[in-house]
Amino acid sequence: MGEINLKVKLFSYTDCPEEKVATAAKLCYSRADIAELKKGIDEQDQSSFLRKLIKMGHYSPVEHVSFTFGIEGVSRSLLAQITRHRLASFSVKSQRYVEESASQQDIFNYIVPLRIKNLGEEYINEYKEQMKQIQSWYNYWMEMLASDESAKEDARFVLPNAAETKFIVTMNARELHHFFNLRCCNRAQWEIRALATEMLRLVKKAAPVLFEDAGPRCLQGPCPEGDSSCGQWQQVREKFKNLT
Ligand SMILES: Cc1cc2nc3c(=O)[nH]c(=O)nc-3n(C[C@H](O)[C@H](O)[C@H](O)COP(=O)(O)OP(=O)(O)OC[C@H]3O[C@@H](n4cnc5c(N)ncnc54)[C@H](O)[C@@H]3O)c2cc1C
Repeated sequence: MGEINLKVKLFSYTDCPEEKVATAAKLCYSRADIAELKKGIDEQDQSSFLRKLIKMGHYSPVEHVSFTFGIEGVSRSLLAQITRHRLASFSVKSQRYVEESASQQDIFNYIVPLRIKNLGEEYINEYKEQMKQIQSWYNYWMEMLASDESAKEDARFVLPNAAETKFIVTMNARELHHFFNLRCCNRAQWEIRALATEMLRLVKKAAPVLFEDAGPRCLQGPCPEGDSSCGQWQQVREKFKNLT
């Protein structure tokens, strides 16, 4: 296949996520039983209640709803970063069990970094040639180790960070807020920032109030990055306000 681009799908999520969070939160402050609580929450009440909850940092009710994404067209380099988020659950395409190309003529999928794209056609072609070279090393080791049915397990060692991966990830809404704080920030690496921003766009549609203020930390107050700040908080706020 060769060059491939980011694809994100919001696969599934907890039914009526905002109602679930509001019910869980109301339970903390009410003498009513759970069935009564559910009846007592109308939509308007629910929105203002959710906003209050998030503002005061009462986050545990936000953990009751989860969102599952199908993610393709991202690099193994991105995988190393996103899997640092320990409260997320992952299922990742295996390089042990799945061969990287179906035939000798084929090539593994890979990501072309933006900075290389920006250098122009000549450099993009050079990069693509390098990927072809890597595929030939991979094929070489697959052949050399052909007698071993686990050949893929070792041949993959020559593959680059650029190699595409696919995975399914589930995060609860509290973890998503934390993830967006860190990874929508201009300080985050471009690929994971693009992914996080797209995930945020998708969850905003599913639960607009719950994710109303989600994004990098400079949406809420001063940038916490100190000397490393990008200094662009106004543009960043504008960008996330218009994220639809
Ligand atoms: C811009 C940027 C640069 C980075 N650079 C590097 C780097 O150079 N090298 C590197 O190794 N990593 C780097 N990281 C990764 C970073 O150190 C974290 O591992 C990653 O962002 C996951 O964050 P987290 O631990 O807060 O999140 P999660 O694992 O999602 O955890 C969420 C929250 O749960 C709590 N928590 C989870 N597990 C524990 C625990 N065991 N003990 C106590 N509290 C816990 C914490 O409050 C944590 O913030 C970078 C991250 C960013 C955003």
